[in-house]
Amino acid sequence: MTLDDLELGYDIPARPGMMEAEILTPALVLDLDVLERNLATMAAEAKAHGMRLRPHGKMHKSVDVARLQMARGAVGLCAQKVSEAEAFARGGIPDILVSNQVTDPAKLDRLAGLAAKGTRISVCVDDMQNVSAISAAATTHGIELHCLVEIDSGAGRCGVTEPQEAVALARVIEGAQGLRLEGLQSYQGAAQHIADPAQQAETLARAEDLTARTVAALADAGLPPEVVTGGGTGSYRTESASPLFTELQCGSYAFMDADYGRIEDHKGQRLDQRFGYALFVLASVISVAKPGQAVCDAGLKSLAVDSGLPRCADDDLSYLGASDEHGQIADPANRLRLNDRLRLIPGHCDPNVNLHDWFVGLRGGVVECLWPVSARGKSL
Ligand SMILES: *Cc1c(COP(=O)(O)O)cnc(C)c1O
Repeated sequence: MTLDDLELGYDIPARPGMMEAEILTPALVLDLDVLERNLATMAAEAKAHGMRLRPHGKMHKSVDVARLQMARGAVGLCAQKVSEAEAFARGGIPDILVSNQVTDPAKLDRLAGLAAKGTRISVCVDDMQNVSAISAAATTHGIELHCLVEIDSGAGRCGVTEPQEAVALARVIEGAQGLRLEGLQSYQGAAQHIADPAQQAETLARAEDLTARTVAALADAGLPPEVVTGGGTGSYRTESASPLFTELQCGSYAFMDADYGRIEDHKGQRLDQRFGYALFVLASVISVAKPGQAVCDAGLKSLAVDSGLPRCADDDLSYLGASDEHGQIADPANRLRLNDRLRLIPGHCDPNVNLHDWFVGLRGGVVECLWPVSARGKSL
């Protein structure tokens, strides 16, 4: 099936060659120039610090964006779920880390199936019993799965909290059939969005301390980790500067969002000065019946508001409130007219992308491409 077989306005919001103001809304749009700059910036920073870059695909869920990242030197992608990894594997991404625990034997069977079809697959582990289940899946398919011991460096999500627990897991992985011990995952998710630089530095220092003690304990046990992976858009400079980490997993840097935009580093530089806003929800004005206010067609069904309401790209406008299919816009100068298009910067890029089927790629105000959100809804 090609784009020509799809119906404009039902299946797809735009066609290549259309102007931005003609796109049917609400639509997820990507400013391709900004996206490419963001990808280049992170690739250069990782390279300058001798870090491998394995961007997180849970953010964009897009095979097309993943390919751009691979073309700029990424070693592979991260996925958060097995079905998401499948979408990337089908799209030809050769090396995927599921940066998460996979415990259901049926899902482990699918994961091992991806390796059997030639994708290099790694997965995180924080449980002895799970090591046996992963080994069983690998053995059934006659392939090798790469395992990373996950430590909980403070986010309170998955992972063991004592270096000796990590050593015990590493020993069992090392001895298990069909498994290869690859190293350690230490991702401090809760530190990413801390706006106060001093508080963030303190949180990351605690994470680095546990990572250092775990790396040392593994080395003492004769199992030094080849890979120590972690780091996100809000913290990657700390992991890059640390001698412990070998790989970065940043995701949001590619698109950015309003919540990340306000984060400052210790020198007072905002993150949106380093990475531009590439992702927008394009909305249209559908009512100007009341003075000082407009109503647009993008509400909760097309915008994720878990990290706050979207920001209007035009500074004189603000997004005040969302209901299912409506957004209230403050327009103090009463300048908006029916069908005017508005660029909204989502509060949180990851869940926002998952609300849409298509990315509309724009360059210079003209639609250049349509990309499917390849792993939309793939949360199994
Ligand atoms: C989400 C996530 C990332 C990427 O984080 P960003 O803040 O989007 O850069 C990296 N690693 C893991 C394990 C994640 O869950």
